[in-house]
This record gives sequence, structure tokens and C-alpha cells, in this order.
Amino acid sequence: MSRLKKLGEELLELIFPPACEVCSGLGREVICTSCREQFEFISAPYCQCCGKPLPKSASHAVVCGECRKEPPRFDAARAVGLHTRTLREAVIRLKFKRRQRLTEPLAELLAERVLAERFVPDGLPWASLTGVVPVVLHPHRRGWRGFDQAVLLSRRLSTLLELPCLEQVLVRRKNTKPQIGLSPTQRRQNVQGAFAVADAPAVAGEGLLLIDDVYTTGSTLNAAAAVLRRAGAQAVYALTITRAVPLTHPQLGYRLGDEEDLP
Ligand SMILES: [Zn+2]
Ligand SMILES: [Zn+2]
Repeated sequence: MSRLKKLGEELLELIFPPACEVCSGLGREVICTSCREQFEFISAPYCQCCGKPLPKSASHAVVCGECRKEPPRFDAARAVGLHTRTLREAVIRLKFKRRQRLTEPLAELLAERVLAERFVPDGLPWASLTGVVPVVLHPHRRGWRGFDQAVLLSRRLSTLLELPCLEQVLVRRKNTKPQIGLSPTQRRQNVQGAFAVADAPAVAGEGLLLIDDVYTTGSTLNAAAAVLRRAGAQAVYALTITRAVPLTHPQLGYRLGDEEDLP
């Protein structure tokens, strides 16, 4: 590096010192150690189907009541951590504060979650995945925000996993209203007909990893998985950074992150 360039960088750092994108504490890490220590990773037991955390007394190979009553259209869903504290803050900052440097560490967390499954008894057959599909925003919303966080995460994740990123196959036909304040039934109705598959031959027979930032009630992921299955996808797994657990959850008592559904 030329001395002049180095001097320029040093000057820039004096004016804009590098800081954690989550807590703004000074330091070179995009997410600092203290913020990472507050992540609440989801560990067993959780529902084998939708990945919902379950009380510690639950058996490790259980499927929750909701999934038994109405099996989702995805084969299974997993999330890195709970939608709480610094992990929630990281997702919000990526999405609403345009902190795109967060893409890298968050995509790494997703990749680690995929690789960790190899060490789980009866883990998901993620070795047979053939492509990564982002749950895209509607073009209007993407235009308003200037970027699509699910696409950014999927691109980086697909590089880390050495899988193709199929970002053109799923499209939003409907600019759905924000899911904020809607009941689970209303959420399902809101996303009905929201997605279409633009390139069915690209998904036929494939094992897809569907990527979104937050799993709230699962209705969006479910609607996206349904059209991919209808287009001939062999398997659809959903993966998100966080998982919101309702306030009324008897064992955990975490809040539902409804406010994150703002456009
Ligand atoms: Zn921090
Ligand atoms: Zn479940």
C-alpha cells in the first residue's frame, strides 16, 4: 500500500473511527464481542418441523402441536437465534438503517447454522441442498428501501456454502400490507397469492434453502414454499436469522417482534 493511501485511510479512521454496527462501540469488528455474547442461540429441544423453541422438558424429536394440526409447506424451518436483544437489533439495523456491513457476519451465522446440522442427531439433509432462494421483497418496497436484505444475505450465503443463488425464481406479485398487528389467520390471508415462480424449470427437482431475516408466524415462508413446491421443488427448507416467539409463550415469555414488519 502506498504511504499516501495509508495516510488517507488513517485520516479517515480518525474522522470516522470503525465501530460495531449494532452498539456503535468503537472497534474493528462489524459486530463486537460484547454484542455477540448477548445472542440467544436456539438450541434443542425445538420443534423438528418449524424449529420453534420448546420447554427444556420436551423430547428432542418432537413436532409441535401447530405443525401437527396444520403441517407447513416447507419441509422444515430453522433459525440462528431468538428475535431478542443484539441479534434482533442487528436484523433491524441491516433492514431499516441500511447497515449493509452486517450482511457478512449475519450470512456467516446462517452458514454456521447450516453446517451445525451435520452434528445434530437426525439433522436436516442439508448436504443435499442444490440452491439458495431469497424471500424477495416486492419491487416497490425494494425500490423504496434501495436494497433487499434477503437477497444480500442469500448472495453471501450461497458463496459460503458454494451453492447457486437463485434470486430470479421467486417473485412477489402482491405488495402485501405490513403484517403488523394481524392475527395468524389474517397474516395467512395477507400473503395468499403474494408469490409466484418466474422460472419453474430452475426449481423442478431441486432442494432449496429459502432465506429470510425473521420468522414471525411462518406465514410468509409458508406461502413462498408452497409456490416453490407447486413448481416442482423436491424439498424446501427455510432458514432465518431470528425467530420471534410470542409474548404469551408460557415457558419463554419473549415478545413477538411485530414492529419489524413495517415496510
Ligand atoms: Zn457491539
Ligand atoms: Zn412446529
